[in-house]
Amino acid sequence: MDVDWHAIEQKWRKKWNEAREFETDPNSKEKKFITVAYPYPNSPQHIGHGRTYTIADVHSRFLRMKGYNVLFPMGFHYTGTPILGMAKRVEAGDKEIIDGLKNIYHVPDKDIKTFSEPIKIANYFHEEIKTGMIEMGYSIDWRREFTTIDPVYQKFIEWQINTLKEKNLIIQGSHPVGWCPKDQNPVSQHDTLGDVEPDFTEYILIKFQFEDFIIPTATLRPETLFGVTNLWVNPGTVYKKVKVNGEKWIVSAECANKLEFLDKKIEEIDEIAGSELLGKEAKVPKTNRDIPIFPATFVKSQTGTGIVMSVPAHAPFDYQALKDLAHRTPYFADKLRSIQPISIIKTEGLGEVPAKEICEKFKIRDQDDPKLEEATKDLYSKEFYGGVLKENTEQFAGKKISDVKDDIKNWLIDAKDGDVLLELNNAPVRCRCGAECVVKILTNQWFLNYGDKAWKEKATKCLDRMSVLPQEIRPEFNYVIGWLRERACARQHGLGTKLPWDK
Ligand SMILES: [Zn+2]
Repeated sequence: MDVDWHAIEQKWRKKWNEAREFETDPNSKEKKFITVAYPYPNSPQHIGHGRTYTIADVHSRFLRMKGYNVLFPMGFHYTGTPILGMAKRVEAGDKEIIDGLKNIYHVPDKDIKTFSEPIKIANYFHEEIKTGMIEMGYSIDWRREFTTIDPVYQKFIEWQINTLKEKNLIIQGSHPVGWCPKDQNPVSQHDTLGDVEPDFTEYILIKFQFEDFIIPTATLRPETLFGVTNLWVNPGTVYKKVKVNGEKWIVSAECANKLEFLDKKIEEIDEIAGSELLGKEAKVPKTNRDIPIFPATFVKSQTGTGIVMSVPAHAPFDYQALKDLAHRTPYFADKLRSIQPISIIKTEGLGEVPAKEICEKFKIRDQDDPKLEEATKDLYSKEFYGGVLKENTEQFAGKKISDVKDDIKNWLIDAKDGDVLLELNNAPVRCRCGAECVVKILTNQWFLNYGDKAWKEKATKCLDRMSVLPQEIRPEFNYVIGWLRERACARQHGLGTKLPWDK
């Protein structure tokens, strides 16, 4: 059968339009309001839009058929930084983006010329997406169309923000954020290439004394300080000697750069090659033991401080690297002989030197063996959930590993034997402008206090009352409520609403 689908489509779109089929006013029927994440107009309509808005449309039509008075409005999300980034690139004459606009999106030259103004980009793609939605036959009441920068909508945002502030859920303070050093703006998922949420972890820095200097090492397990036998440096790395808030530190160049964003005052003094540190000794804080500095290839300058403490009884990488060294480097033989793993954690089912057991279980070949990651995860989680500190851990003896991290961290920091370093877990994260993102401590900034416990509880209760389809994604919502913490809610640039109390 030969059917002209196109003609049928046009006929019904015209009829719906003439009959004002989807224009809704209050009446005696029970009402339903349909809302859906507004499209961000930085590109034409794409397949993701097709999916998202078709679901909302099907839902609207279904409810109308069941006799409800259904209002389906549509908004356009002008607020945010991606459009800003595009405008800057167009203004700079960036060939890649201009070619994309011309050849992929088929934007006429006369319009591209105006795109150095962010609002022109938003307006252009707004119309393009709207045309697509009309062609799709979505049952939207187009009298109720708006953008997030319309004055009326901005009043709504102001009300929302003021209400949160009254409830003390918007706070001012210093908090870490994902940050684009080029744009000087906080970044979240929607600002990064590949839509990656910059995710970061707090590491504890443990300060080893080396001559006049401090060699800090980053760890998630400060308790293992009691089991340190040596430090690892990469002999091929040239480290920086820097003044950090008055102290003299030795760290990798990448680490010095990270520290600067973490609100520390950095002053470069000199450089020192990793190879120059080899065989020398550093002093462990608190216990004042002298330990040697050895070479290892798994030490990366971009991770932590670029220097690592070695805990061979409880860290498979360290155990294996020491074993490799014994085979490969006769030069260190004497020093190596004096090194014995120091066992500090007792875990049900694991013996005296758990890292050795795990390396044997995983049949680790050498320190470049990819299975080491898995071996490490396995051991860390066993020790974290089931481990107890032994008698050689001073006042922490007998405590569970899962409870002790903050106590040890504070014990070190209070005596200036420790500090913290924030690291991106998913580095490199790139901003849409192309720059590599960092973690920055934002001072004197406004934050939504998503870390607030009472708010999390309320949100969880609300979520429990919601129906979620498909059911399987419910844990994802709970997961996000769980990890969300303070989030910057004000930017220096961008289309949007000004903070009512701090314009
Ligand atoms: Zn950027």
